[in-house]
Amino acid sequence: MIYDVAVVGAGFGGLASAAELSRKGLKVILFEASNELGGSAGKFERQGYRFQSGATVGMGFEEGGVFDRLYASLGIKRPDMKLLNPIMDIHLPDRTIHYYQNRAQWYKEIDCHFPQHASQIKSFYDEVFKVGALVDQLVERLPVFPPHNFKDWLEMVKLVDKNSLKLIPYMTQTVEDRLKSFRLESNRLFRTFLNGELMDSVQTSVENCPAFLGYAALQTFHKGAYAVHGGLATIAHQLAEYIESCGNEVLLRHPVRNVEKSGQYFHLHSKRNTIFTAKKVILNNSIHNLHDTLSENLGKQTFIKKEKEKNRESWGAFIIHAGVDDRLFRNTDALYHQFIDPNHPDDLHDGGQFLLSLSDPEDKSMAPEGKRSLTLSTHTGVEPWWSAADYEMKKEKMKNRLIQTVDHYFPGFEKSLDLVLPGTPVTFEKWLRRKRGKVGGYAPTGRFSWLDSYSIRTGIDGVYQCGDTVFPGAGTLGVTLSGLMVAKDITR
Ligand SMILES: Cc1cc2nc3c(=O)[nH]c(=O)nc-3n(C[C@H](O)[C@H](O)[C@H](O)COP(=O)(O)OP(=O)(O)OC[C@H]3O[C@@H](n4cnc5c(N)ncnc54)[C@H](O)[C@@H]3O)c2cc1C
Repeated sequence: MIYDVAVVGAGFGGLASAAELSRKGLKVILFEASNELGGSAGKFERQGYRFQSGATVGMGFEEGGVFDRLYASLGIKRPDMKLLNPIMDIHLPDRTIHYYQNRAQWYKEIDCHFPQHASQIKSFYDEVFKVGALVDQLVERLPVFPPHNFKDWLEMVKLVDKNSLKLIPYMTQTVEDRLKSFRLESNRLFRTFLNGELMDSVQTSVENCPAFLGYAALQTFHKGAYAVHGGLATIAHQLAEYIESCGNEVLLRHPVRNVEKSGQYFHLHSKRNTIFTAKKVILNNSIHNLHDTLSENLGKQTFIKKEKEKNRESWGAFIIHAGVDDRLFRNTDALYHQFIDPNHPDDLHDGGQFLLSLSDPEDKSMAPEGKRSLTLSTHTGVEPWWSAADYEMKKEKMKNRLIQTVDHYFPGFEKSLDLVLPGTPVTFEKWLRRKRGKVGGYAPTGRFSWLDSYSIRTGIDGVYQCGDTVFPGAGTLGVTLSGLMVAKDITR
């Protein structure tokens, strides 16, 4: 059997591309190395709990959103989910900010917490919504960015209109530059708040975040954030079922060890020396793994340089999965809680800033009766976790820092924990094959860092890539868009 397309990795990027190609009638095979679908947005189960492997906040289900449109085009029913309003509670030592999805409520909250600068902050947010909508319009047209060949440039030129031109000032400034123009750069509380939200969505802080990317991420929260019942893995399962319903194959526990080309076809080597043949290949197993997946000969053909890629920085995650007594959080409607240490406003990682995600008590698939499943996650540098000497000690220390911070705001938290499973970048490499435990793609590093993105093209004819290391980048939304970009390009 010769497949039209073979997809490596059942993360959201691989699943979206395989589903869209299946819809268009292509013969597709999708390989997943692990036992679970969804990758960083997947799940695993232990002792009656369902834990989300990484991502917890669902986006794109509002009318016209990425998943709303994808589900409509595939003709599948959206899963049960709870709209989050507040999106999350943000806990600071002297206050709790309710980060409302509803704009009117959010503007009232701004009045309450930032009385001296409220009108400037609201003007800043007006700009966020205006520019964010323009970015959406552009990205939804699925441009191949950065353009690689004549065809890509031609498509880019077609995107130039009066709306896209309005984006230019925001492509040449950082969020910090925009804060200055609203005279907000010295408002420490607002800056701390924004840094927390940007870290969660774009993985960087105001001074390093290109304004258009930061704005797009900030407005996304207000379009609708959701707790999807069964976790985001529910979406992964629905997409896989759709692919199979089209007569295509999704193979779990099938790592692709090597991709080589002979003649006009690609050969994918999987377990027990099985070989699958396809006309085209989509790699969804992150650029960090690219050179390990390609044969030496194909590796020479890509313009993505092994050494540059190896040295390019990327965050890892420290994560705790646990069960907790349901009674502890009865007094709060918020399912998501962010904790920021304002005494170390630049320390936005390693416990200085982290997110607690609780399962919806109405979602009985996540935990045994009377319990809830939770995730605590913070950004961390990957390399320190690879020195074996003090690994266990470091893990214990970080675990205690996160748990004790939550315990400070929700007394009794530590005692009411049921099953505590900490994970480090080493864990992410082991279970999700993210090399060195690098997750979430590349964090922006300055106003023009978006120019240093990778597109869906590898430089090898017939080999594409998608996922969080590819434009438009991190988060299940960006990753799904990159999968759809590949599908569009293949079926053009
Ligand atoms: C802790 C954490 C929290 C996050 N929170 C959120 C959030 O709340 N909301 C949000 O939208 N995003 C969030 N993200 C980001 C989001 O989860 C990721 O950006 C996204 O899921 C990545 O998808 P991907 O398609 O790039 O592939 P991945 O999720 O990396 O999946 C790749 C898949 O490929 C498989 N694979 C690897 N190598 C091979 C091989 N050789 N053969 C076969 N299969 C292979 C892996 O097993 C994996 O299943 C979070 C990420 C992390 C780590």
